[in-house]
Amino acid sequence: MFTISELPMLNVRHWRRQRILQRTHFDEQLWRHTLEDLPLLQGLSCDECARLRELVILFRHEKRFIGGAELELDEPMELLISTQACLLVLNLGLDWYHDHWHSIIVYPDRFMARQERIDAAGVVHQTRDARAGEAWQNGPVVLSWRDVLETGGGYNVVIHEFAHKLDLLNGDCNGFPPLHADMDGTIWYRVFSHAYKDFCQLTAIQHRSIFDDYAATSPGEFFAVMSEAFFETPHHLRRHYPNVYNQLRAFYRQDPATRLMLRTDLAC
Ligand SMILES: [Zn+2]
Repeated sequence: MFTISELPMLNVRHWRRQRILQRTHFDEQLWRHTLEDLPLLQGLSCDECARLRELVILFRHEKRFIGGAELELDEPMELLISTQACLLVLNLGLDWYHDHWHSIIVYPDRFMARQERIDAAGVVHQTRDARAGEAWQNGPVVLSWRDVLETGGGYNVVIHEFAHKLDLLNGDCNGFPPLHADMDGTIWYRVFSHAYKDFCQLTAIQHRSIFDDYAATSPGEFFAVMSEAFFETPHHLRRHYPNVYNQLRAFYRQDPATRLMLRTDLAC
């Protein structure tokens, strides 16, 4: 992911981060409560918990939380969001949330966002809709706190928006994030295109979808919703789209289906 000319800068960043880890006071009791409040963390090993803790400390140091519409954010709220955001990059590293963006804006509830759509005749339509979250390229992540609390059963707005952030690293929100050297972009494209097409067809003929209907909006939304399922309901995803599960396992370098079966007590 980095060129040789960037190595000195990375060493400085690593040194800075080590100092932050040594000097930052961290509320261990609150951290334990946060871990216990998030079922999707079950099965993490002691080593993984320790790395997640470090990522969360650094994430909170490098990013800024802002309460929108006079929402007063406190440490438990920021920790709940940071921990889930860092779960995505647990085995990738914090540099995947590179430093071209700095803010996480949290509104108390869904917020109105303006959208522009150009129809087949070239006419621009402007609409406003209520959103649970947004991820801007080189800009903030925006979240509805009510939706953060409604996480579960395959729905996770934090995972969704931060998956968009990873997707956007390639420039577009198109379901094609930068892949690792040991992954094959052709296979990724084939697997996701096939599953997306299948899901759109199923959604069109069924009243109840196997995943959030919103995944049929675009390949970018499909990737974000599949990422939610990967961390929240991995067995469900593996059963319906095993190839998508395997691609996401290779991308995130995690295997939540196996991990969640371990049901490890997070006492370490
Ligand atoms: Zn989305």
